[in-house]
Amino acid sequence: MKIPVDRLFGSDVEAIEVDQVVQPAGDVGARYPDGVRVLATIGRISHGVYMEGQLEGVEAETCVRCLEAFKRPTRVAIEEAFSEDVAPKDALFSAVSPLVGRSIDLDDLVVQLLEVDEPMAAVCDERCKGICAVCGGNRNLTGCDCKEPVIDERLAGLSRLLQERDNN
Ligand SMILES: [Zn+2]
Ligand SMILES: [Zn+2]
Repeated sequence: MKIPVDRLFGSDVEAIEVDQVVQPAGDVGARYPDGVRVLATIGRISHGVYMEGQLEGVEAETCVRCLEAFKRPTRVAIEEAFSEDVAPKDALFSAVSPLVGRSIDLDDLVVQLLEVDEPMAAVCDERCKGICAVCGGNRNLTGCDCKEPVIDERLAGLSRLLQERDNN
């Protein structure tokens, strides 16, 4: 979805209000099945426009500890400058985004911001106890009495020595 900002360059300088639900494509879209709401205002700056507001969405995540699916509410600030002085080929090297055709591509913006926001390792809860390494049970749901094998490095070294002696 593209938001035309051409009118900000004319005599009408009133800010543009944006309130849109965007359904991103690809991997990001799969993580946000209900789409992402963009709430922002776009105003005029020298040689371009400035967009300010936020994204809101609910991400379908998988906990890295217990492997259960959970929903993570997402809120990302939008503080983006777009300038006609930035060529699209220089976009990666510039803090200011290129303004192409005097319109803002909301889908591109949403995907960009959500990729930056994506946590490296999502956990359903800071207190998530994860999965038992012995029986594979979800420790949040069922307590188990499994004893994790404790390997003492010094004893492991000693048993290796004894084995080598026996083999000689
Ligand atoms: Zn978990
Ligand atoms: Zn267990």
